[in-house]
Amino acid sequence: MLGPDGGTPEIAIIGGGIGGLAAAAFLRRAGLRGTVYEQAPELREVGAGLVVAPNAARLLRRLGVLGPLLERAVRLEVGWEFRRWRDGRVLSAEDLATACERLYGEHTYTVHRADLLEALGRAVPPGAVRLGAQCVALDVRGERVALRFADGAVAEADVVVGADGVHSVVRAAVAGPRDIADSGLCAFRALVPGERAPSFARRRAQTLWIGPGHHLVHYPISGGRFVNLVAFAPAGGDSVESWTAGATVEEFLAEFDGWDPRLVGLIRAARAPGRWALLDRAPLPAWSRGPVTLLGDAAHPMFPFFAQGAAQAVEDAAVLARCLAEDAADPSRALRRYEALRLPRTTRLQEVSHARSEVNHLPDGPDQRARDASFTATDPLVDNGWIYEYDPESPDHQGVTP
Ligand SMILES: Cc1cc2nc3c(=O)[nH]c(=O)nc-3n(C[C@H](O)[C@H](O)[C@H](O)COP(=O)(O)OP(=O)(O)OC[C@H]3O[C@@H](n4cnc5c(N)ncnc54)[C@H](O)[C@@H]3O)c2cc1C
Repeated sequence: MLGPDGGTPEIAIIGGGIGGLAAAAFLRRAGLRGTVYEQAPELREVGAGLVVAPNAARLLRRLGVLGPLLERAVRLEVGWEFRRWRDGRVLSAEDLATACERLYGEHTYTVHRADLLEALGRAVPPGAVRLGAQCVALDVRGERVALRFADGAVAEADVVVGADGVHSVVRAAVAGPRDIADSGLCAFRALVPGERAPSFARRRAQTLWIGPGHHLVHYPISGGRFVNLVAFAPAGGDSVESWTAGATVEEFLAEFDGWDPRLVGLIRAARAPGRWALLDRAPLPAWSRGPVTLLGDAAHPMFPFFAQGAAQAVEDAAVLARCLAEDAADPSRALRRYEALRLPRTTRLQEVSHARSEVNHLPDGPDQRARDASFTATDPLVDNGWIYEYDPESPDHQGVTP
């Protein structure tokens, strides 16, 4: 595993979110060392949940991260349970308890984001994360990259991985300024303490209530201590793309006025909602330049309608580590291979996630009735097999990017 100068390449990862920590952990497993530069003074995630689909779960299991996480995760028994907005009628539902393992050899879990981050943090070598390190500029000098931080510190590396999320500084350096469109949508998220949640929401089920212009997803997390709510609604004028932007329960309730009273009751029990503006970015045609590349939301931000953003960041991390380990003497070539393996799949996911918002939000009428009828005619677990069965470490999937 020799770098350009005959030693191990120095790999700098900008951003210590799920993608950045996963990259450091997969590099460690591959015998390489990455240093994570995270702008926050501590590793932290918003108080919210995440679906860990089979394609992410199997990689996390191999990394040794899933085991400790399972103590606090929830294994879903029902998923994609679509309900009609006005009366909660079930339009379709998937039996995840048995079908996931049968089809994909792995289950679907829900977790608290902070728990996943903590478990990933334990898989990263001690001392590999530098906190309070906000990267403000990078400069490619031949085969080395110089990094500058907000506090005036500087660093150098052979490889730089931008895992710095939707507002990526590294993406700007690699791909230049990109057009950002307002999707007109925002996401509310909130937790409901388990003891305040009605029994239908405490089931090991991921439920999606769909209606005109809106939909709401809920599932239990943290071993059932909380129910996670994520709802999509037209964006208010002051929405920003950050979980630090708050909203009130009244604002959240107002969006679901007239919906099934059971759902309204669930929202009423929510604590301190956050609101995140969904901004729209077209897929990048390329995301590496020389020894610099991107990973996770920095590379391929996607609407969350397939619950795959973090899962794709974990897949990226596994593929990146493999490519660098197999071609450490020429990191730029390794990054080109990484991008070629990943870009078609993440682009497809960006596209299908984008299309989903219209389908979920149809007004009542003939199109909505046709959609509802189609739910019973299709099997999403089979239709979406290309998402969940994909294993970037399987010899069968090498070079294949479904
Ligand atoms: C409403 C909603 C629901 C979602 N649900 C799911 C789901 O169920 N399942 C799923 O798989 N995905 C889901 N996602 C997507 C998922 O949250 C993201 O894809 C994932 O968090 C991306 O991880 P990341 O590490 O690429 O970026 P981030 O999580 O944004 O991490 C980036 C990190 O970089 C740091 N950083 C930023 N700039 C700098 C800098 N200049 N210098 C140093 N550090 C920096 C930040 O502080 C942060 O720690 C959802 C997203 C939304 C909005």
